[in-house]
Amino acid sequence: MTTEVYRLSPEDIDSGIIQKAGEVIRRGGLVAFPTETVYGLGGDALNSEASKKIYAAKGRPSDNPLIVHIAEEDALIPLVREVPEKGRLLMHAFWPGPLTLIFRKTEMVPPETSGGLPTVAVRMPVDPIAAALIRASGGYIAAPSANSSGRPSPTTAEHVVRDLDGRIDMILDGGPCDIGLESTIVDLTEDVPVILRPGFINEEMLKEVLGEVKLDPGLLDAGANAGIRPKAPGMRYRHYAPKAPLAIVEGEAREVTEALKTLAGKAILDGKRVGILASDDTARDLAETFLPGMPGAAERLYLCPAGSRAEEQTIARHLFAILREFDDAGVDLIYAESFKTPELGMAIMNRLLKAAGHRVILAADAISEGDM
Ligand code: AMP
Ligand code: MG
Repeated sequence: MTTEVYRLSPEDIDSGIIQKAGEVIRRGGLVAFPTETVYGLGGDALNSEASKKIYAAKGRPSDNPLIVHIAEEDALIPLVREVPEKGRLLMHAFWPGPLTLIFRKTEMVPPETSGGLPTVAVRMPVDPIAAALIRASGGYIAAPSANSSGRPSPTTAEHVVRDLDGRIDMILDGGPCDIGLESTIVDLTEDVPVILRPGFINEEMLKEVLGEVKLDPGLLDAGANAGIRPKAPGMRYRHYAPKAPLAIVEGEAREVTEALKTLAGKAILDGKRVGILASDDTARDLAETFLPGMPGAAERLYLCPAGSRAEEQTIARHLFAILREFDDAGVDLIYAESFKTPELGMAIMNRLLKAAGHRVILAADAISEGDM
């Protein structure tokens, strides 16, 4: 199959292209499109054959349900058994936007779309291209992230081309995504709403609206929670993983910089190519104090600044693209600074820990081992 790629400007959307893309989805085909979070791979959510095609194109396990995207709040009503009051509050506060809500589903949602679950995940994106496409497609688009299963989510159309060229009908290129991390998922089927996946809409923002919100214990894969399965099936799979092994270096900022120098220095001396994912601040420090004195570093160190520590949104926006860059650069191993920033830290670290397979190195340990 030839995948057609069309460039669209979010400020001046070409309605001819949107109609063409809408037609593709209405007749059961697949179109990748931009949203404010990441690129989605869209098919008709009410057509079980289209959902099957989505799983096949991504190589996604079929028990991992798809999010249904709508463009009007009224479109939610026939999909779900009831809209709890807390759901109304969240919709009012955050729709359209990067928040996915889980409801009990009706027969209208085919089991292929909901991964066999009695519930359905629904989101109303704010991105104007996404909204226009949903309207032109009949109102209900099932769309997971438009990457091959297991790879980092795509935040540009080029990422989608790399993963899915020849496997889907069309790609709408609306430029890089604003947020760069997938939507926050909140489960409304329990008395107290539960965060199943952290995202741009953080715990604090949800608490302001709801008063009380819980965090799925399966998300905190440590201590007493080790071994508890996350409730969202997709959160159980290995994900976002670059080809080279990745470890997160944790500690106070100065220590982390020192530890990165020790770890990278050792690997470079061993003749390895090392990727480093760091804040601009740490990267600047490494470039000034480490690179000049380290033989071989100029060729073997691949330093990727993600953004200033003070600008969490920039770090979030660049995260997935950088994980992909490490693959292109062919590094042998990767060290990442830990980003426990105040607002997006939980969302960023959730993705980074999965990419690292939960490998964390304490900066202080790395430094003292380097001294031995
Ligand atoms: P993606 O579309 O790639 O952002 O992944 C969608 C995420 O939503 C996956 O982690 C799914 O497991 C999760 N999800 C979708 N529907 C449901 C549902 N009904 N209950 C729980 N999690 C869901
Ligand atoms: Mg995904």
